[in-house]
Amino acid sequence: MAEGKVIRAISGFFDIYDTGVVRRCRARGVFKKQGVTVLVGDEVEYEPIGQQEGIVNSVKPRQTELIRPPIANVNHVLVVFSYVTPDLNLLMVDKTIAAAIIAGVTPSLVLTKRDLASLPEAEQVVDIYRECGLEVVSISTKEASSVDLVRALMQGKTNVVAGPSGAGKSTLANALAPGLALKMGAVSEKIGRGRQTTRHVELFQLDAETWLADAPGFSQLQLNVESRALRNYFPDFAAFDCPYRGCLHMDEESCLVKAAAESGQLASSRYENYRQIYQEIREREERMY
Ligand code: GDP
Ligand code: ZN
Repeated sequence: MAEGKVIRAISGFFDIYDTGVVRRCRARGVFKKQGVTVLVGDEVEYEPIGQQEGIVNSVKPRQTELIRPPIANVNHVLVVFSYVTPDLNLLMVDKTIAAAIIAGVTPSLVLTKRDLASLPEAEQVVDIYRECGLEVVSISTKEASSVDLVRALMQGKTNVVAGPSGAGKSTLANALAPGLALKMGAVSEKIGRGRQTTRHVELFQLDAETWLADAPGFSQLQLNVESRALRNYFPDFAAFDCPYRGCLHMDEESCLVKAAAESGQLASSRYENYRQIYQEIREREERMY
């Protein structure tokens, strides 16, 4: 029995990567009966057949599982936002970061179009997210040194890219792995026209241990979490240690998170965006019950 990673799924076949070789495999018939699916990104055990084929016998437990795009074992998301064109929307940044943490995936922040940004503002944003404990890079997508910074963040991980249209995701992907940009562009175009398209996701290899999905992550940003659990996905708030353990950091009197936002110890945008996202989830809950 050999082990490999599913990098592509094409109508019933799975391309399995194993130490430099890709084999086209089928899944054992028993999979369908048990309702087991094989996802791109899965680590599998397979039985080699000849030099180029094989049969998938079992899927190892998944670290993470994204729904859209459907990929297993993604452990890093590059949250890509531009300073300008489109303007930086910190509410969307905070939502995307929370969505990653909810999915169990570590986010890093890539801020693009530094060449067009005003410097003091750019530095302020970098500081806010470094304070949150994130890796942050501030780049011009077209500079080779910038691409190297991003490559270093991705090293050894299975990566997806998330962020709004126009932020520079395709440009960046193309700089990292030529040929990748087109597919990503095609996906956002279809979503832009409001059409749901199922498509094949693929993992591209950047080096022996580094992978990049060709589809942008979190394209339908829905934070699948209860309002009262949202605070768990703002890990930077834990440092303020509210005396009331169940504090939602909304309007509780002794809330130290709120106090920190007022005194400037916590970025007020982070706190205001938390409140905004909390309210949005509350409203969704009220419509449901
Ligand atoms: P996507 O929609 O996120 O994939 O964004 P694109 O990669 O298509 O980029 C949108 C536009 O921004 C393109 O015209 C890019 O050439 C441009 N762009 C991307 N990164 C940068 C950057 O760092 N600086 C500048 N000035 N333009 C950039
Ligand atoms: Zn609190």
